[in-house]
Amino acid sequence: MDRADFTNWDNSQRIGEGACPHCGASIDAVAGPKKLEPRDLALCIQCVELIIYDDQLKPRALTKRERDNLVISPRLRTLIRLMKQKKAANN
Ligand SMILES: [Zn+2]
Repeated sequence: MDRADFTNWDNSQRIGEGACPHCGASIDAVAGPKKLEPRDLALCIQCVELIIYDDQLKPRALTKRERDNLVISPRLRTLIRLMKQKKAANN
């Protein structure tokens, strides 16, 4: 079984002030394996919903077409499920 590799997640990055389109949480930084680019996907750390970054690196919701074309790996699906379970347990 492979494991999530977070050893190269050293690219925390400040971005302009934005808000999660799902829960409204303030978003002004991201962390990931590379520098953030337009059309990168991310998970909101507050509500664990998928967001996508526009050309100005502002977070927005995925369009229906983007959602329909999205392929989520089993590993990411598991990560989302575990994060949502942990969030529910903390509420
Ligand atoms: Zn959110």
